Amino acid sequence: MPSSCDLLLHAACVVTQNTERATIENGTLAIDKGVIVALGPRPDIAPLWQGARELDLGNMLVLPGLVNAHTHAAMTFLRGLADDLPLMDWLAEHIFPVEQHLTPEIVEWSSLLGYAEMLRTGATACMDMYIIEEAVFRAADTAGLRCCGGEAVFAFPSASGPTPEHALELTRELAQRYRGHPRISVAVNPHSVYTTTPEILGRCRDLAEECGLPLHIHLAETASETAQCLARRGKRPLPYCRDLGLLTPNTTLAHAVDLTDEELDILAESGATPVHNPSSNMKLASGVARIPEMLRRNIPVGLGTDGAASNNRLNMFTEMGRAALLHKLSGNDPTTLPAALVLDMATLGGAAALHRPGLGSLTVGGPADLTALDLSAPNLQPLYAPVSHLVYAATGMEVGLTMVEGEILYHDGVFTRFDYSALCAAMRDVRDWVRRKAERG
Ligand SMILES: [Zn+2]
Repeated sequence: MPSSCDLLLHAACVVTQNTERATIENGTLAIDKGVIVALGPRPDIAPLWQGARELDLGNMLVLPGLVNAHTHAAMTFLRGLADDLPLMDWLAEHIFPVEQHLTPEIVEWSSLLGYAEMLRTGATACMDMYIIEEAVFRAADTAGLRCCGGEAVFAFPSASGPTPEHALELTRELAQRYRGHPRISVAVNPHSVYTTTPEILGRCRDLAEECGLPLHIHLAETASETAQCLARRGKRPLPYCRDLGLLTPNTTLAHAVDLTDEELDILAESGATPVHNPSSNMKLASGVARIPEMLRRNIPVGLGTDGAASNNRLNMFTEMGRAALLHKLSGNDPTTLPAALVLDMATLGGAAALHRPGLGSLTVGGPADLTALDLSAPNLQPLYAPVSHLVYAATGMEVGLTMVEGEILYHDGVFTRFDYSALCAAMRDVRDWVRRKAERG
């Protein structure tokens, strides 16, 4: 008698990202209550399992859901509004002035659009930071993907509230409200060293420790951030954060571009996880993060899109391709950052950055968080090495199915939990609102 399960899923190829990095041709996954209960070649698995539902994906490649380890999903409302500017001008003149007028409705619709794009391009989890994060979480709950987020903490007022204390209180409330939620979790999110003070960072550290939450901060993004930190605080950003007790295994550092050799050693010792954002770093000319040297030091590295204003996509396939190419060019070495290491960053590295080690691979007993690409797409023909195609040839638009905890969230052009045309209509209204705010300044 075969064992019963909720879903039996067949596909031409399964890239597992397990410890052996096994790829299975003609594979089958048995999924029950959101968990993978069996996985292997179809002739071995299919006779042993009876699925309440059976889905033959045909010529598709199944891989673990990609993990977008640093993003601001809500920033889709700024996509294409102001490009081709330096980071500080861009933030001060174009981003912050519109953001100060934000409403929960705009944040929720814009986040839902961000999550639609992520699901459409194979991401099943993200590390988010924004203001009015409760609206971001509502969107994540609607979309169904996993999100670790929290209220960004600034020294100055934001649309969320007047003070950093208020942002910390909101973070505490979110942590209580979402405790035990299977897909949404909370991190403490000091925005950066240049938008906070040592006192605020200390309070963030204390809240993270008290509540057992991860801490997520933009750090060492540019040389000018380093110069400003040296001038104001007498230290470079990474040692400054270390001395404040911010660097722990529960810390996620977005960007981590401007680091010295000694700081790479400090980073390795701290157990903190850096997240690489190659598109954002290239677009804002922030610099080239020393990713190959981090990986040589066995530092786990996540990969993220950053927000849609500085990318302008929330597409992890784009991000993988750019990461692989950027480091080859900047290191003048075509052997640097091979495809397999880049896929590791987008899966297992992301799991480390979200402090959710069960994510990023397909294994028996692990969550059924996965995505599937149509190998019949012209740009994926012929197939020699699946991982090569995932990093260098796929665009993300070949994704035909995305699933979290065994629940299909996107399938063949349809988002299962929300009305995409209503979302697009709402985003046209959001665009008109942004235009009016941007014109007034
Ligand atoms: Zn960011």
